[in-house]
Amino acid sequence: MWFKRDLRVHDHAPLVAASAHADALAIFIIEPEWLSSPDCDASHVDFALTCLAELRAALAERGLPLLVRVGSAVQVLTQLQNELAFTHLLSHEETGAGWSYTRDRQVSVWCASTNVSWQQFNQNGVIRGLRNRAGWAKRWQARMDAPLHLLNGKFSAALSLDQPELPTIASLGLLAHGKNLQTAGERAARRTLSSFVQVRGYGYRKALSSPLSAEEGCSRLSPHLAFGTISMRTVHQATELAIGNTPERELAYALRGFAGRLRWHCHFMQKLENEPDIEFHNFARVCDGLREDAFNNNRFEAWCAGQTGYPMVDACMRSLRATGWLNFRMRAMLVSFASYHLWLHWRHTGLFLARQFLDYEPGIHWSQMQMQSGTTGINTLRIYSPTKQAQDQDPQGHFIRRWVPELAKVPLPYLAEPWKMDLSVQRMAACMIGADYPLPIVDDKAAMKAAKDSMYGLRKTPEARMEAADVQDRHGSRKSGLPASGQRRNAKKPRTPETPSPQGDLFA
Ligand SMILES: Cc1cc2nc3c(=O)[nH]c(=O)nc-3n(C[C@H](O)[C@H](O)[C@H](O)COP(=O)(O)OP(=O)(O)OC[C@H]3O[C@@H](n4cnc5c(N)ncnc54)[C@H](O)[C@@H]3O)c2cc1C
Repeated sequence: MWFKRDLRVHDHAPLVAASAHADALAIFIIEPEWLSSPDCDASHVDFALTCLAELRAALAERGLPLLVRVGSAVQVLTQLQNELAFTHLLSHEETGAGWSYTRDRQVSVWCASTNVSWQQFNQNGVIRGLRNRAGWAKRWQARMDAPLHLLNGKFSAALSLDQPELPTIASLGLLAHGKNLQTAGERAARRTLSSFVQVRGYGYRKALSSPLSAEEGCSRLSPHLAFGTISMRTVHQATELAIGNTPERELAYALRGFAGRLRWHCHFMQKLENEPDIEFHNFARVCDGLREDAFNNNRFEAWCAGQTGYPMVDACMRSLRATGWLNFRMRAMLVSFASYHLWLHWRHTGLFLARQFLDYEPGIHWSQMQMQSGTTGINTLRIYSPTKQAQDQDPQGHFIRRWVPELAKVPLPYLAEPWKMDLSVQRMAACMIGADYPLPIVDDKAAMKAAKDSMYGLRKTPEARMEAADVQDRHGSRKSGLPASGQRRNAKKPRTPETPSPQGDLFA
């Protein structure tokens, strides 16, 4: 039983299947290809190691040893094959980054050559080998409504092998990350889910957009879904149960909004499953060459460091770097600023963000990076003004003052645009622009206009229009008669930046 990004015991189909075998053993492989990939961060590995410690104890209680080995998958499996001569390999399907796709293909070849039967189970709504998006949402619903895979009893006669101590970040050769991360592990995931569907979910829709309220008001389940410490099916079923059971209309309404986002999770992952290339190349190839040659490293470094001179951008970046999490709207603003104002290619900024996001999920991440950079060819262009976002989402300036302490004494009317302070105000605020805090890295209005001119100019071309139809055909979702969450077919759908405009693709 090969654990991958499914570090839990509940709702685990391969684990249940393994329990039918007389001599079962669980393994997790820490692969050098993962550790050295440009989207991996020590914080991801740290989170996984904590999950593994808890998982090992939970499996031991059920009589199943968990072996953790370091090495390339084929190399570790070969070694294990020499030790145990195993005949079956059970795991979940994985829709991961390029390195894991390559590894899965190598493992598949290895299994065929050694007569090991590798059975892969699905664990979310992503459908392998899907030819066409019609009816996808119905199939998602059927999978999510299916009974959970629960282990009954203990493993019998499981093999016993030496289980050395788990490695540490340092023993794996990684540097300490210094982030203040969410608690890892299956127990934390289940606590997070129940606190959300019972209490925290009330204000979900209102809390989503501001980084101040989202911290507590969003579910915060994303790292758990990414590492598999909870299954999508468990989250879906707990949400539907809470919607059905609560007498509070407000909670039910909020949870319906949340339930919709669970579908988006798999909808985006399906894009990567169908077209692994979107991690590296524009959805709309007509966008090739748009930003590649214009890459400006000084701009990139200022953006990564939270030193752009735009307080909301800098506050969001610094908060993300310290905690590993940021709400959707602010992620979108960071990318919009990088891709439009700074005209940076999404691949570079996306790798940096992938390392910062504890919940890095390649299928969602690369689709969103491209959506927010205008390279899908089909989504409405959204260019965020960092000044307006500061005024709308942090009207009292608490978030900016917390994460950009150089601006702590800047009067509120200047906080979103500190370069407008005259020298006497700068002295009073103990913040000299250009010395204590940078001047704006680009002119907001001019940069936005230049970006719009380029993007709309390109979109009008016949090649872009033709390709958009093709992308829509390959990746756009279809309405499929899926009942609204909680059976309310006519519930009004909220319009948020993630949802589509009429010409957008998401569930349009
Ligand atoms: C540029 C960019 C990159 C992103 N990269 C990731 C990523 O690597 N991993 C990731 O999980 N999310 C990513 N998101 C989507 C979204 O920001 C996060 O899912 C959300 O902020 C996670 O917090 P939460 O679990 O509290 O979300 P909640 O609002 O509580 O949502 C619950 C779950 O629904 C799913 N979800 C919510 N919003 C979206 C969305 N817009 N698209 C797809 N699924 C969604 C996630 O699984 C999330 O955990 C990205 C968004 C942008 C703009």
